[in-house]
Amino acid sequence: MVSRLVLVLGDQLSPGLSALRQADRAQDLVVMAEVMEEASYVRHHPKKIAFTFAAMRKFAARLRAEGWRVAYTRLDDPANSQSIPGELLRRAAEHGTDAVLATEPGEWRLIRALGELPLALCQLPDDRFLCSHAGFDAWAEGRKVLRMEYFYREMRRKTGLLMEGDAPAGGKWNFDQENRKPARDDLFRAGPLRFDPGETVKEVLDLVDERFPDNFGRLRPFWFATDTGQAEAALDHFMRHHLPCFGDTQDAMLAGDRFLHHALISPYLNVGLLDPLDVCRRAEAEYLAGRAPINAVEGFIRQILGWREFVRGIYFREGPGYPGRNALGHRRSLPAFYWGAGTRMNCLAQVVAQTRDEAYAHHIQRLMVTGNFALLAGVDPAELHEWYLAVYADAYEWVEAPNTVGMSQFADGGIVASKPYVSSGAYIDRMSDYCRGCAYSVRAKTGQGACPFNLLYWHFLDRHRIRFAGNPRMVQMYRTWDRMDAGRRAEILRDASVFLDRLDEGAAV
Ligand SMILES: Cc1cc2nc3c(=O)[nH]c(=O)nc-3n(C[C@H](O)[C@H](O)[C@H](O)COP(=O)(O)OP(=O)(O)OC[C@H]3O[C@@H](n4cnc5c(N)ncnc54)[C@H](O)[C@@H]3O)c2cc1C
Ligand code: SF4
Repeated sequence: MVSRLVLVLGDQLSPGLSALRQADRAQDLVVMAEVMEEASYVRHHPKKIAFTFAAMRKFAARLRAEGWRVAYTRLDDPANSQSIPGELLRRAAEHGTDAVLATEPGEWRLIRALGELPLALCQLPDDRFLCSHAGFDAWAEGRKVLRMEYFYREMRRKTGLLMEGDAPAGGKWNFDQENRKPARDDLFRAGPLRFDPGETVKEVLDLVDERFPDNFGRLRPFWFATDTGQAEAALDHFMRHHLPCFGDTQDAMLAGDRFLHHALISPYLNVGLLDPLDVCRRAEAEYLAGRAPINAVEGFIRQILGWREFVRGIYFREGPGYPGRNALGHRRSLPAFYWGAGTRMNCLAQVVAQTRDEAYAHHIQRLMVTGNFALLAGVDPAELHEWYLAVYADAYEWVEAPNTVGMSQFADGGIVASKPYVSSGAYIDRMSDYCRGCAYSVRAKTGQGACPFNLLYWHFLDRHRIRFAGNPRMVQMYRTWDRMDAGRRAEILRDASVFLDRLDEGAAV
């Protein structure tokens, strides 16, 4: 006898999930399903698919061990209808109930699909986040512009994290000025904690190998954590070996070190293997114990308590049309080298290769290399959105779309970012060692050998002059451009156009 179906999605693998809290172990049936519709609505990286399925299988086993009844559909089950709504309907017919208990999905697409089902759906808020939809709307109401920094301060006050009474710990809300250093190679940097695949993971790897042979990305070696115990171990490892230096190298990039002092916990947070408040409290405890400095801990907590919650608030406030925005009218196709076709630009070649191998790139690589190039070149933000959603193990639309469409491409017209994140090659040269191994010269500003970022940077500013020249944060850029002599400006624009033409022709750039 089954009273209700309790839906648990692949990114809802938390024992404290609202739907599980409200369910009755004796009467209700948990429904989990690996389905083609979710695994293929974009061409996900094989590591991302394997991570999700393996974590789902382990979570189902855990629920069973804790006394839950679980109806789990594997991808290759002959009866699999291959969609979430289809599996709910099938289980409902099988067990003679039409009552479904669910936690709100993190994507409009699925929210809509569940809402259209001819079943009695009770949808609960996803309270694994620190700010509810209502809380975010209350904060946003009446503000002309929404800036993460002010939202973050409010979240610090609300949670008490890094607060000394009413004042921020260390006397400042934000220590980013101390956090913009380049990095040096360091053989003693520990790197992320890696896990050998056990039986469950090996079985999933074989399945993904067989079913998704042509998706961009390398499946092996596979070393992600796939259950709460492993994710906790990865977090402990980060706290001990990397958090103290997190701030110093946060914006740096090195060809020989793909992870630097980053946490690599976003896949674990986003599927629910780690809890965001717990992660922030653990980082705060490291500061209070004197084991990590304030610039590192504040910077780390701001990413989770500030950025992660802020972008989710924007995604749900802006509604289902948000990922399709294109405020700058960019229409260029995504260059083939994003899918591994090869490029002479070493920064892009490094980041794309890393993405192919690891299903991971850190924030500055996503923002200032792949994102920066696409924005400068005028790539269609919808195509880029699909790329980011596909290639990273941590990519779910609620977090990926505001970061890509908003922060990185300014395609929302400035809701997430107050100015476009564009830079010439000089920024990449300062923050990385990529330029040393590049076929282009970062110092050359014109001509065939000039760094394409140098050319496209001015091309971007010039073609969007009407929109951006009045932005107080961009006045200096336009002054520099206007001070160049007319002949030089014309040469840069001509060289940039030649480069873009070659890009469109599919030439090896
Ligand atoms: C174009 C673009 C696309 C992105 N797409 C995603 C995505 O699909 N999924 C995703 O989780 N993050 C995304 N980010 C944000 C960020 O790049 C990743 O969260 C981060 O690189 C994850 O690696 P980490 O765990 O080592 O992070 P760390 O640098 O160690 O940071 C710690 C944690 O802070 C959180 N965080 C940091 N920055 C952000 C941010 N801007 N937005 C939300 N959370 C943040 C993450 O949970 C991360 O695990 C994107 C950023 C850009 C510029
Ligand atoms: S020279 Fe330009 S294209 Fe080459 S690595 Fe540096 S920034 Fe990238």
